[in-house]
Amino acid sequence: MARWDWDLVVLGAGSGGVRAARLAAESGARVAVVEQGRVGGTCVLRGCVPKKLLVIGAQFAEALADMPGFGWGLEGVTFDWTSLIAAKNAELARLETVYARALRDVGVTLIEGRGVLADAHTVEAAGQAHTAAHILLATGARPALPEVPGIEHAVTSDEALDLLQLPGRVAIVGGGYVAVEFAGIFNALGARVTQILRGDTVLRGFDADIRATLAEEMVRKGIDLRCGTTVRSIEKTAAGTSLRLSDDETLEADLVLYATGRRPNSQGLGLAEAGIEVDRKGAVIVDSFSRTTVPSVYAVGDLTDRRNLTPVALAEAAAFVQTVYRNRPTAMDYRHIPTAVFSLPPVATVGATEAEARRKGEVDVYLSRFRPMRNTLAGRNERSMTKMVVDRATGRVAGIHMVGADAPEIIQGFAAALKCGVTKAQIDATLGVHPTAAEEFVTLRDRRPDPQPEGED
Ligand code: NDP
Repeated sequence: MARWDWDLVVLGAGSGGVRAARLAAESGARVAVVEQGRVGGTCVLRGCVPKKLLVIGAQFAEALADMPGFGWGLEGVTFDWTSLIAAKNAELARLETVYARALRDVGVTLIEGRGVLADAHTVEAAGQAHTAAHILLATGARPALPEVPGIEHAVTSDEALDLLQLPGRVAIVGGGYVAVEFAGIFNALGARVTQILRGDTVLRGFDADIRATLAEEMVRKGIDLRCGTTVRSIEKTAAGTSLRLSDDETLEADLVLYATGRRPNSQGLGLAEAGIEVDRKGAVIVDSFSRTTVPSVYAVGDLTDRRNLTPVALAEAAAFVQTVYRNRPTAMDYRHIPTAVFSLPPVATVGATEAEARRKGEVDVYLSRFRPMRNTLAGRNERSMTKMVVDRATGRVAGIHMVGADAPEIIQGFAAALKCGVTKAQIDATLGVHPTAAEEFVTLRDRRPDPQPEGED
């Protein structure tokens, strides 16, 4: 009889957990996944997928506004929020069954219930102890709410994806991925959106030109951006909600959405009892092979708070399987992670920001702003921006950044090029696909003048 009930027990059926379970089972391991809710996790059920479906829904509103310029009449066009939410929910239910079937097809057992570690080789779930040679923690993260008087009147992205009605006035707190994406959705669908952020502009950590360009376009679209502002308190009123802001202004809203970051789901899992260490934020501490402070227990994805993106969790899960089940110890490579923000307009980026690249050495910066062809007949006064940061010594491209339609689709290919160490000269030697926005990257010629050292004009 086997020493353990399972070779691997995975806690959490989200992107990282499902990928690890499937690959481990395909490698011959006997695998169980413990999940207390639906199969799919944040990305499929409360994040990337439903958010993008709503973004696509919102983009039709912009397309409608552009259509008369191309000869279309719009009489009789209507929008029904309830239908969009119902269609989105039907798609999520379909994906959930696809994920569950994918687990079953490779022989993974799904244990429904909450899993808690009893020791380094035992998970208690569904009233039973399950022993395993290895345990993988992949329980993800959830929205974090700061302590503000009246915070109970606010919702998070979890609820915002499932509203019964489209609110008329929305106050969004935060300036990160989630905040700007929801600002775009609600604004395009006709709500009056005020976005309150404590920083000097949106998307801290992104390239400065991306941040400035996106903020400018968001304001142009009608979003009221209140930078350097915080919320003092929130009150329920007869008409909705009232927010008192740090500048003493009062803001009335029908919906208050907090998008102020996420916290790892590490509480109540028996981690401390099993000897697994977490950091100050509650993220599970792991080494470069995703191994926790207990050798038989690994952790991947948002629970470890490294780069909280689905493709990263998937890659960490794959590296874990290589390491443990395929005898090929694999450390995850965190360089050149492309990412997109599905704001309106969208943002996409790969590699270093200009500021990061300048800290490492001298750089050449190329930037272009242009009006996409579609916007000409549409009469839309919206410009796109492409930017390339090049390491002067080697000519290698250090970072590529874009704001504008199709940016996420365009950056994916450049991410492969950066992974291969592409140089600016090689990109210059590449022919454009004409007429596209993407060809801007192969025709970037004008080097931006170097910034003057401080103190000089
Ligand atoms: P982010 O960490 O991106 O942004 C959090 C925002 O909230 C920042 O603007 C931050 O301000 C602000 N904030 C934090 N605490 C407070 C507070 N107490 N009071 C006021 N403002 C506060 O988190 P998100 O929730 O937007 O997203 C979570 C993660 O999910 C992202 O980091 C990303 O990895 C992932 N994600 C990815 C998406 C994608 O790939 N398209 C989409 C959505 C999420 P400051 O900058 O000043 O700290």
